[in-house]
Amino acid sequence: SDSKPYIGRFAPSPTGRLHIGSLLTAVATYLDARQHGGTWLVRMEDLDPPREMAGAADDILRTLEAFALYWDGAVMYQHERNDAYQAALEALQAADVLYPCYCSRKDIAALNPVHGVDGWVYPRICADKAYRPPHTDKTPAWRVRVPDAVYGFDDAIVGHYQQNLAHDVGDFVLKRADGWWAYQLAVVVDDAAQGMSHVVRGQDLLVSTPRQLYLQQLLGLPQPHYAHLPLLTNALGQKWSKQTRAPALDVRHKECLLNQVLDILGLPKRPVNDMTCAELLAWAVNEWDIEKVPSQAHITEAHGDTDT
Ligand code: GLU
Repeated sequence: SDSKPYIGRFAPSPTGRLHIGSLLTAVATYLDARQHGGTWLVRMEDLDPPREMAGAADDILRTLEAFALYWDGAVMYQHERNDAYQAALEALQAADVLYPCYCSRKDIAALNPVHGVDGWVYPRICADKAYRPPHTDKTPAWRVRVPDAVYGFDDAIVGHYQQNLAHDVGDFVLKRADGWWAYQLAVVVDDAAQGMSHVVRGQDLLVSTPRQLYLQQLLGLPQPHYAHLPLLTNALGQKWSKQTRAPALDVRHKECLLNQVLDILGLPKRPVNDMTCAELLAWAVNEWDIEKVPSQAHITEAHGDTDT
C-alpha cells in the first residue's frame, strides 16, 4: 500500500545467547520482510557494555546462520554510532526540549514518585530552571521533556495502543549519567538512518513505542509501521528471558525449534516431514500471515541447553 520499499530488521542486544523468544522475533521479522520482497537487516544493539556478554554478538550471528536466517548487507553495530546519537542530542538541545538531570535513583525514590507504565514517572525537579541541584560536579543524565498529550498508533498485531506521555511515562532519559546512550534515542535514530519501513519486535517494547513516536516527531523523522509480537511465557507465566533462565538455543535441534516457532506464529501444518531450516523458511515466507499471529503465546518447554 505504501510506495516506500519494505525494510525491516532484527535488532538483538548481545546480553546473552539467543533463546526461543528471540528466535521467534528473528523468524517473524525475517518472514514479514521476505514476504513483502523486502530487505531484512540485522542491527546489533550493543549500547550497554555493562549488561553485555563477551562473544554474544558473534554467537547470535552464527546462530542466525545455523537457522538459515541470512540477512542483507552489513550488520550495523550501535557501538559505532556515537556521532549520530550525539548529533540528535544536540538537535534536541538546540530545540530546548532537553534538560540535564542530576538525580540519582536514590534521590528520585526519596521523592515517592508515582509509577507509570514503565517504572517511575520522574518528578521533574531538575526540569525547573530555578532548582539548584546539590551535586552539579557529577555528569548529568539528559532528559527530554514530554507533553501532556496522547501518542498512539495502530499495531498490526495488538491493535490500537496509546499513552499520555506525561502521565504514563514522564520525562525520560536519552543519555545516561554514566555516559551510555539510552535505547529510546538510539533506536529512533537508527531506524530512520536505515530507512526502516516496518518495525516488528516483542511486546515488551510496546510501552516504549509512544516515546519513540514522540522522538520521531521532535527530530522530523518518518514513522514506521509497528507490529509487536507475543511474548513467550513459561509454565510460571514469566517471560522467557535470560533473567528467567531461558535456555540458549541448541542448534542440534534447530529444525524442531524452528517448527515450534512456526506453530506459535500461526503457520499451517508443514506439507512434508523432515524439512531443513532453509526449506521451512522458504515455505513459511509464502504461508506467512501476520493476521494469524496470536497476541499472546505460551510454551512450557523448548529444546536447548542450560550452559548459557
Ligand atoms: N534490542 C532490543 C531487544 O533485544 C530490541 C529493540 C527493538 O527491536 O526496537 O530487546
